[in-house]
Amino acid sequence: MLIDFFKEILAPKKCYSCKKEWNFLCENCQKKLKNFSSICYLCKKKSNNFEIHKSCKKNILEKENIFFELDNIIIFSHYKNFVIKKMIEDFKFYSKKDIAEDFAKILSEKFIENFRGGFKDYIIIYPSMHFFKRITRWYNPAKILAKKISENLKIKLEKNIFKKIKNTKAQKFLSRQERLSNLEKSLVINKKQVDKIVDENIIIVDDIISTWATLNEMAKILKKNWAKKVIWLVIASD
Ligand SMILES: [Zn+2]
Ligand SMILES: [Zn+2]
Repeated sequence: MLIDFFKEILAPKKCYSCKKEWNFLCENCQKKLKNFSSICYLCKKKSNNFEIHKSCKKNILEKENIFFELDNIIIFSHYKNFVIKKMIEDFKFYSKKDIAEDFAKILSEKFIENFRGGFKDYIIIYPSMHFFKRITRWYNPAKILAKKISENLKIKLEKNIFKKIKNTKAQKFLSRQERLSNLEKSLVINKKQVDKIVDENIIIVDDIISTWATLNEMAKILKKNWAKKVIWLVIASD
């Protein structure tokens, strides 16, 4: 056990793809990876800065009666890509926190590429982790990532914007309506921090998109509390 621990610490960084020593994802392999071009997350068609089309938001409202409050969803790659999948798994579940540095670099570049010049009036936040998860996992991967990106981009990081008060019930057994109200109750804004988001553009940093419902709920709450734009910056989508 202890030997493994030291091996891990002393082992040089190796690229997950080509195995050469340097970074966890070397620049060559990063370029070769299937990278998302700037699209609208909902219709997957071309869109500037990964902006969600107004017409797509309108569609969701008409079809599903949901206000889509996320303005841009910036994604680096696909979770189906085995290199990215392995990296995310190691980062999230196997305490390979060093990977955050490579991910943060990738996401910072992706963000700059799309918001060239104009992001000084932005702040960065991250989703909170549920209490039970916090017991079994002693770090919040999204928080580590958010902190590094805030350093890279020199954008302020605001901590603990959300409190998560209860475990969301197993969502799959609930109807869509129940699911949403369940989510709504499980997300509570931290009253002590609420003035930090007023009139700000907000970047929520996360590792993976599995469902947009939770994040949309977050965006809704942020806007109710006078946030301006809400952007989701994420490594991979399902
Ligand atoms: Zn490589
Ligand atoms: Zn669209």
